Amino acid sequence: MKGLTNKIDTSYVDYGKNNTDGEKLAKVLIYYGLIPDVYQKEGKIICPVHADINPSFSYNLETGLFNCFGCEAGGRDLFRLVKQIENARGNSTKDIDIQYILAKAMNNKKCANIKIPQRKVSYKVQIEEEKHLYDCACDFYYGLKKSLWSENKGFNAEPEKQEAYDYMKKRGFNASALNKARAKITYNQFYPIVFPMYDNGKFRGYVCRTFNKFIEQKRKYLYNKGFSRASTLVGDYGYERTGKKYVIICEGYLDRLKMVQYGINNAVAILGWKITDKQIEKLKKAGIKRVISALDNDECGRNGTEYLRKHFEVVQFAFLRGIKDIGEMTKEQFNKCWNKTKERILAINAELKKRREEKRKNKNKAIAKNKKNKTNGGLRNGTVKQNKRRC
Ligand SMILES: [Zn+2]
Repeated sequence: MKGLTNKIDTSYVDYGKNNTDGEKLAKVLIYYGLIPDVYQKEGKIICPVHADINPSFSYNLETGLFNCFGCEAGGRDLFRLVKQIENARGNSTKDIDIQYILAKAMNNKKCANIKIPQRKVSYKVQIEEEKHLYDCACDFYYGLKKSLWSENKGFNAEPEKQEAYDYMKKRGFNASALNKARAKITYNQFYPIVFPMYDNGKFRGYVCRTFNKFIEQKRKYLYNKGFSRASTLVGDYGYERTGKKYVIICEGYLDRLKMVQYGINNAVAILGWKITDKQIEKLKKAGIKRVISALDNDECGRNGTEYLRKHFEVVQFAFLRGIKDIGEMTKEQFNKCWNKTKERILAINAELKKRREEKRKNKNKAIAKNKKNKTNGGLRNGTVKQNKRRC
């Protein structure tokens, strides 16, 4: 963006002043070629801020709100959004350049006559809508025939099931894990298998998986409409439910399923690399203070782990070199990593115990010293008194 600031028209300061928040958002998305027009008022697109594969960035042109499940982008602040997009593209992020881009987007001739009425939805209607979508998700999942998965039996009579089983087996999942996950066949050719998502036992929605490479490039997972990734922790957590005071955190649904298969009962998937405020709140409410971060072994995952440290005592899961996530691990690899992680936990526990003991010793020393001082002081006072009496 070299030299951009020289071309600035001073009118940029008033950018979009006659537009609603939604119209302004539409103009920015059109400017970057992220949406073709405003025909579709809400949707999901590949996030322009982070290296996204599945469309994680949702937008609503009636409310002007946007949110990415995979990164920090979210809210209504377009200045920040443009700054993040330019940053991601390796461009200058000087404030004045951002303002110039915003002005250009707002004055874009292509969107001169854009009109999107603002939608005002009452809280009551919103709740009703959410409930309706939740009921639809329940109807869909529970309405499907129960699938019983088995290692030894072929599913000749059900080619869809056989295909799904073969695919999952290739990815290292066994029948027992699929049964535990209560996976079912959807009979939808694009997304043939569905997994329900339970948050400490409560059904929160479902996710379908595609096996088709071409569809995978566009969208690997399909969540039910209305499902809130931000407020769901997939899995079991808390001492009451799992008998464990800590929890293992991973990114994806299938990472967690792998752990379930390997005998871990207290793993949760946060469905992204960055834990959300609501997820933090839920873990804290369940009494969780220590977490083991098994977020992906890449840059995003490491950022996510750093973020976890702001809220919990974090032990890093000991990944083997070259392995990106739990989902791709064989049992042997997982056991190796898990044993190493347990060693780390023991070392941390020992260190904490040592510190506690030192603290206790210091406290005892201080008490003893205090007592001694008091006794000495008392004697001195006594002496003074005696002296006084003598006088
Ligand atoms: Zn993003």
